Amino acid sequence: MSKSRTPRIARRHFLLAAAAGALAVTGGTITPARPGQANTRTILKSGDLEVLVVSDGYFVLPTGFLVAPETPTPEREAVLKAAGQGGEQLQLANNVTILRKGSDVVLVDAGTGPHHQPSAGKLAENLRAVGIQPAAITKVVLTHGHPDHLWGVLHADDRPVYPNAIYFVSSVEWNVWADPDVAQKLPAVFPKERAASIATGTKHHFSRIKDKVTMVRGGDEIVGGIRIVTTPGHTPGHISVEVAGDGGLVIAGDALTHRLISFRYPSWRVPVDCDADDGIATRLRLLDQLATDKQRLIGAHLPFPGSGFVERKDGSYRFVTS
Ligand SMILES: [Zn+2]
Repeated sequence: MSKSRTPRIARRHFLLAAAAGALAVTGGTITPARPGQANTRTILKSGDLEVLVVSDGYFVLPTGFLVAPETPTPEREAVLKAAGQGGEQLQLANNVTILRKGSDVVLVDAGTGPHHQPSAGKLAENLRAVGIQPAAITKVVLTHGHPDHLWGVLHADDRPVYPNAIYFVSSVEWNVWADPDVAQKLPAVFPKERAASIATGTKHHFSRIKDKVTMVRGGDEIVGGIRIVTTPGHTPGHISVEVAGDGGLVIAGDALTHRLISFRYPSWRVPVDCDADDGIATRLRLLDQLATDKQRLIGAHLPFPGSGFVERKDGSYRFVTS
């Protein structure tokens, strides 16, 4: 999809990033942004494009959501230990990307809002802290309908957080959540009551913004040089955002969720993916593209700010923060 990009320029960009002190992610604990820590990072400025990541906070989920029980035990234990994540729960950052270009201020996802976990839902306040008023947001791209990406569009009292924004949602994703039986079709790893509350909550949040939603499909441009790419698997209509210029950037939502497992073991089934086989195919395709084209990656749940590059390593890949 991006073979027309000039490899030499991309390569030079990558080497500059590496020279600037990029670090291989091989261990240590996850460090999501927390109160008192920096919650915003400028990722790049190039021409009239500025890319920021603002933290929505962090949340905790069962390890079994990301790691299937059938994965080989020694590898599973070793990789979780390397990530500082032994045990039954994982702590994940929730990173939201902001693209400023011309008169547009585009959010990629909207964070969890007030109904998820108290450690998350900090996006709007963290935006204000860096001088971005929620009313200044012109566009919101929703990668998918899960609570940690969508539910931040509404305040606790149901008012829209971004009163002047229009929203972009994959038509496939919209139809998934419009299905009356969606709760029964969510991955089995969700307890039944949780699946029901996710389905109800997402239907409600979509209903509150529906008059301002534009349906999109792969290739659609949101702003000049910023386009939608389809990355199905985590959900059937999961989309990512590809940004042209400065070597290229892919904001991959939940296509690559774990900083070690998603890269070292991309063929492991992810229980929280709606279609695990599609999730694997998407990861392999995306990793090959990111490593080949030396495009920057931003992942929603990679350690804050979730930005870096993908390198090939030992027949697989690794994530190099930058
Ligand atoms: Zn997510």
